[in-house]
Amino acid sequence: MAQLILNRLAKDFGAGRAAVSDFSLDVREGGFLALLGPSGCGKTTVLRMIAGFETPSDGSIHLGERLLADASQSLPPEKRNMAMVFQSYALWPHMSVADNVGYPLKVRGVSGEAYRAKVRDALGTVRLADYAERRPADLSGGQRQRVALARCLVTSPDVVLLDEPLANLDRHLKQEMEETFREFHQRSGAAMIYVTHDQSEAMALATDVAVMSEGRLLQVAPPAEIYARPEGRIVGGLIGRGAILTLPVMGGERQLEWDELQDALQAANTDGADILVRPEDVIIGGEGARATVESALFEGERYAVKLTLGNGQTLRAYSRVAVETGEAVRVIIHAGWRL
Ligand code: ADP
Ligand code: MG
Repeated sequence: MAQLILNRLAKDFGAGRAAVSDFSLDVREGGFLALLGPSGCGKTTVLRMIAGFETPSDGSIHLGERLLADASQSLPPEKRNMAMVFQSYALWPHMSVADNVGYPLKVRGVSGEAYRAKVRDALGTVRLADYAERRPADLSGGQRQRVALARCLVTSPDVVLLDEPLANLDRHLKQEMEETFREFHQRSGAAMIYVTHDQSEAMALATDVAVMSEGRLLQVAPPAEIYARPEGRIVGGLIGRGAILTLPVMGGERQLEWDELQDALQAANTDGADILVRPEDVIIGGEGARATVESALFEGERYAVKLTLGNGQTLRAYSRVAVETGEAVRVIIHAGWRL
């Protein structure tokens, strides 16, 4: 196994703006990278270039020392030792679970005990050892997804590419499958690139989150880091909840503390920097700035509250106690992050 290196990758389909531009990224050996971004930003195109279904217009893809593709040459998909899992599981209905899983081995000419052992291992990894002789139609949606995973594991790929594999599932099954993916990653040892437009899925699953927008990579960082220190308005708006305030803050620090924020909130002039304020850093009550409750959504353990500050800007907060729409409150902002 080796590191996957994307260097200044680009893809232009000739339709005005390029689908992917200047995209550089290293995926650690055995890492779990979530590629996150809104629909149409180029995620699938990046994945298809890695898999070998598209040729880059510019830049290069290496697996360790080995060149997989650049603008003038491209190794075919079957020579890349990668596996791609699609949104639809693409299982063959007339074949048993074991035959579906073993198919990529048959294509490669593996047979006999080696074949049976690999299929058994792959089915064991996704906890479907007892389902080998069933047909896909006899399985639940989650079990079918696991068969698709076993099928991509069976050839011991260096890299597993997953394109929004949970997009069609309901919330309950999604949570169950997130567990399966985490376990699958740990057991397989393959590097995984997991495409999603769902930030909570990306945060829950990945060791690193790469955020892209309009064909470009904006930031790559572990989930906790990208949550605490997002770079710019787009990443700040995509990851987690919060509000972006424009405030006249001075100083060079990007992590803003309580006193600096209180001064900024009292200032008459609200020109200034974009400051991301997370709801958990806002406390309703005390002697803080004046605000009005715009809405309060009951979420079970708390209310998610939208507020308007005296200066007209929107703020988000959580409250353990009920608040009413239109209610006048005071808020204290504990911390903010300059985007
Ligand atoms: P995402 O997966 O993030 O939703 P895609 O990679 O599918 O985004 O698409 C990125 C952009 O490239 C879109 O504007 C899309 O219309 C365009 N695109 C993707 N594939 C092709 C293609 N084969 N031919 C022309 N344009 C394409
Ligand atoms: Mg896509």
